[in-house]
Amino acid sequence: MRIQFREYRDLFIKYLRPRWPKVLLLTGLMLTGIGLQVANPQIIRYFIDTALAGGAQQGLVYAALIFLVFALTTQALAVAATYVGEDVGWSATNALRADLALHVLRLDMAFHNDHTPGELIERIDGDVANLAIFFATLVIRILGSLLLVVGVLIALAFVDWRISLALTVYAALSLVVLTRFRDVAVPYWETTREVFGNLFGFLEEHLAGTEDIRSSGAVDFVLRDLYQFNRARLASERQAMTMGSVIVMLWIGLFTLGQLLAFGAGYWLFQAGLLSVGTVYLIVYYTEVIFRPISDISNEMQNLQKAAGSLVRIRALVQTTTQLPDGPGHPIPAGALGVEFDSVCFRYGERGLVLQDISLKVAPGQVLGLLGRTGSGKTTLTRLLVRLYDPTTGSIRVGTLRAGGLVDVREARLAALRRRIGVVTQDVQLFRASVRDNLTFFDPAIADDRILAVIDELGLGPWYRGLPDGLDSALEGGSAGLSAGQAQLLAFTRVFLKDPGLVILDEASSRLDPATEQLIEHAVDRLLVGRTGLIIAHRLDTVQRADHILILEGGQISEYGAYQALRQDPASRFYNLLQTGLDASGVLA
Ligand code: ATP
Ligand code: MG
Repeated sequence: MRIQFREYRDLFIKYLRPRWPKVLLLTGLMLTGIGLQVANPQIIRYFIDTALAGGAQQGLVYAALIFLVFALTTQALAVAATYVGEDVGWSATNALRADLALHVLRLDMAFHNDHTPGELIERIDGDVANLAIFFATLVIRILGSLLLVVGVLIALAFVDWRISLALTVYAALSLVVLTRFRDVAVPYWETTREVFGNLFGFLEEHLAGTEDIRSSGAVDFVLRDLYQFNRARLASERQAMTMGSVIVMLWIGLFTLGQLLAFGAGYWLFQAGLLSVGTVYLIVYYTEVIFRPISDISNEMQNLQKAAGSLVRIRALVQTTTQLPDGPGHPIPAGALGVEFDSVCFRYGERGLVLQDISLKVAPGQVLGLLGRTGSGKTTLTRLLVRLYDPTTGSIRVGTLRAGGLVDVREARLAALRRRIGVVTQDVQLFRASVRDNLTFFDPAIADDRILAVIDELGLGPWYRGLPDGLDSALEGGSAGLSAGQAQLLAFTRVFLKDPGLVILDEASSRLDPATEQLIEHAVDRLLVGRTGLIIAHRLDTVQRADHILILEGGQISEYGAYQALRQDPASRFYNLLQTGLDASGVLA
């Protein structure tokens, strides 16, 4: 996949336009620096020629002073340009990083299942870092170096067109040779890295197994292997070093060639009486000046290729679109939300169906108890409701059950849908942040009074009063430092503060002590007042408040009916479940 010029341009416009004053400053700094570098040798020429001609001392002193000022200014400009360049590069790439991170966050769960966090970090941070040089200085450096070379050649043309021509040929030749041989050592270094990788792998494995190796008397054998690894390392490193020095030698050779050319031509022209000593010096100096930008250009072209490679990967990421497009924004009615599943089938990726032909209805304000053995698809069903995935076939609607009151979840805005549904998942994820941020999900609009009221109401008061800094106390990530029950209650508090119209409760299957269980029961009661509930229960206590019961088996509905009816029907599975009085999951498993 080649990168079109248009794409570079678009990227530049998008991320550099907001920083145009700095970009302008950077360009100005670099151009002034180039101007000074072209101008400086002219002063030396004047100095030498005037001195040789026995000119006035005052003029020489002025020339020397101007030279000094120019030289110092060139250095200062270089420092300033580096500073501004880094600033522009980092702020532009940080904006790109933020855009990419946001894009990735909006991609569907299937994408995230396919891509490890490490891979995404490499994309968002590693590849973007390659672009940083690109934004910061790459183009200006390439253009600036070219400009410097051209400027010098033009300045020389005014002195003597033949020398300018000769140097042009020399510059072109050097550029071609450096670019052609720049990468000769790369494959050798790659091999060396591989050899090192093998060696370290070998060391790690055998040091870890040192006991076995000693006891089985394999020490000599292992040492022999070690010698062989080291021998391979020596060979490959020597080769890489040799190839690496080829480039250095080429570099020095070309540089010397330039000097030779300049000195030779200068000497010849001087002998012929065509040039002054100052001019000869000017030529030699210019030859020196243009060599650096030539090798710079060659290096920057390499960076450009790296940037292009990164850009290809970034583009692929940007072009990945979510399988869960945001809906057109059908409004979701306020208050308790009813739910309707209509012949829903679902599979994860290419695997077999996880849910088959699920149809169900929950009226607003009612509670559906969902039972089923592990792996039967209970959690999956709730994921479809909040649109972490979309059904493979069939549809899901939420709203009031009146005619026209239901909205297909795909028609609503994702954010609006998720705002109206509160979920307590099986394992509660806490963040390394304050208790307040953990409870409000970083929403500063929620007042502390309200948080405290909910904490008390849900029975977390005693825990809260034990915290060192109240709401500002820091929590560890994961759910470290909290009991399973406390973590659940915190999750309830979250949902309470969010005030949704539908509550999904995916009960943790871990057992809680009776006191905590009671707290949770009480919290669930409070949570369900005025809301619709979808409760995945592992304990029969929890399921007692359900209006309807649905038992899933292998992704299919195996029993579905009103709580009271099932409870009194001795033929039902639910009846038997209650009779044995065991843990719901225990019996069904
Ligand atoms: P439990 O009671 O243990 O929580 P569950 O009823 O909630 O079980 P689900 O999590 O819905 O079960 O899983 C249903 C099936 O889907 C299982 O066979 C599981 O292996 C599979 N599954 C779950 N999540 C994924 C996923 N992200 N990718 C692929 N398959 C999945
Ligand atoms: Mg589950």
